[in-house]
Amino acid sequence: MREHTELYIDGAWRAPRHQGAVRELTDPASGEVTGRVALGGAADVDRAVAAAGRAFASYARTAPEERAELLERVLAELDRRAEDLAQAVTAEMGAPLALARGAHVPTGRFQIATTLGALRKHTFREWRGDTEIRREPLGVAGLITPWNFPVLQVAGKAAAALAAGCPAVVKASELAPYSAVLLAEVMDAAGVPAGVFNLVLGEGPEAGHALSAHPDVGVISFTGSVRTARKVTVAAAPTVKRVHTELGGKSPHLLLPDADFAVAVRTVHDWMMSVTGQLCSAPTRTLVPRDRLEEFLEALVPSLEAIRVGDPRSPETGMGPLVSAAQWRTVQDYIQQGLDAGARLVTGGPGRPEGLAAGHFARPTVFADVDNGMAIAREEIFGPVLSVIAYDTVDEAVEIANDTPYGLAAYVVGADVDRAHQVAARIRAGSVLINGADFDWTAPWGGYKQSGNGREFGPEGLDAYLETKVVRGAPVRTGAPRHPRT
Ligand code: NAD
Repeated sequence: MREHTELYIDGAWRAPRHQGAVRELTDPASGEVTGRVALGGAADVDRAVAAAGRAFASYARTAPEERAELLERVLAELDRRAEDLAQAVTAEMGAPLALARGAHVPTGRFQIATTLGALRKHTFREWRGDTEIRREPLGVAGLITPWNFPVLQVAGKAAAALAAGCPAVVKASELAPYSAVLLAEVMDAAGVPAGVFNLVLGEGPEAGHALSAHPDVGVISFTGSVRTARKVTVAAAPTVKRVHTELGGKSPHLLLPDADFAVAVRTVHDWMMSVTGQLCSAPTRTLVPRDRLEEFLEALVPSLEAIRVGDPRSPETGMGPLVSAAQWRTVQDYIQQGLDAGARLVTGGPGRPEGLAAGHFARPTVFADVDNGMAIAREEIFGPVLSVIAYDTVDEAVEIANDTPYGLAAYVVGADVDRAHQVAARIRAGSVLINGADFDWTAPWGGYKQSGNGREFGPEGLDAYLETKVVRGAPVRTGAPRHPRT
């Protein structure tokens, strides 16, 4: 049993002031209770923001080299705790342990390293003629994170804020507190100065809202759903603070008429099924030339039916459970909506995979003959449910790809690489991957339309936490004033 009764505030573990709120965590794979976590509230956010505010005065003035050394120590401590972090991720959100070790922890590490590289090269001060341009830390950063890639989210946001010179108050997801607590331990062991990194665990409408609305927070970086982003933005509005949002998606996977389906099938496995569909950039809408539709389904379906769904701690497992019972019910509801709307169920469907009576397991599910107007094609399901949509012309495919309120990622597959790039240029999304290319984790990350605003990671990620100041000194003058008074 894991038991966390304290929050990390002002360089020490402290009992929450918000008394009595305790969250019980269960193993997504078995439903058994794995631990208890004390939750903080508005009073704890106040205390953390005050500590961060006090730290700001000196931390904002540290040299970039000093902050780079700090991040190096954070990296070293994270490496020492890598296995603990992987185990925590599997325990809290059910990712297969191999994925937690091979993707969750390494991507978090990589984001710190990428930020460190960007920090070393960043221009904090430059001259344009006799005008000085300075980039200065914005203030206290409020970081609100989701549960689905918890190490990457907390480590990536915190590294960028700290690199820029902004003390951080993290409100981690209440569904993924174990890894957040470990990351606070990593920060503490690395010698992050008191108040520069603070962790408040708590429910969104309580602690998350208090952080978003707080007048002494200079910038909010939020990753999560569009629904919550609207609330965060409204809560932040009276103080006109900067709000960055990284939100959901309904990413198109456009298979051109000459597409190699082996590449497309791999993409569905790697970016969708291996993460139980719980990835913001999952390719959830596959657009297929109508005359090759059955050929595509024949290539895809047997491989999905061969996925081993089950115990995330078994090395044979290809797909783990969904994060929670609520998420399981949401996925079931969407499957039912797909059936009711008349989509053709090709594999998977309602209920649990055979032999898995406990835990939040769903079946890898494919619907064909999906119309892009159906809820399963428009809304983010965050589960292993794929919509396959047939198209007649490439122009129509591009139109369908863009016919979504989202614009986070897109995937294009085609043997004619020039044509694939031309199609990529017409898609309104923050990242487009062609022919099975991997994400570049050093590149700016973010969405068009309702997938968010701003960019994270690398140099752009640092800029999110900086203000620009212009300084000009007047030459000594005598005589009449330059601007006559009226
Ligand atoms: P969520 O919106 O439910 O919660 C995100 C965070 O907001 C949590 O910490 C939660 O406690 C907090 N929160 C909830 N209500 C709040 C309120 N009223 N005020 C302030 N904070 C509040 O999202 P989730 O279920 O944790 O994560 C899944 C979502 O995140 C999906 O939509 C996914 O696409 C998105 N996501 C996006 C990216 C990206 O980079 N674009 C990455 C990962 C996840």
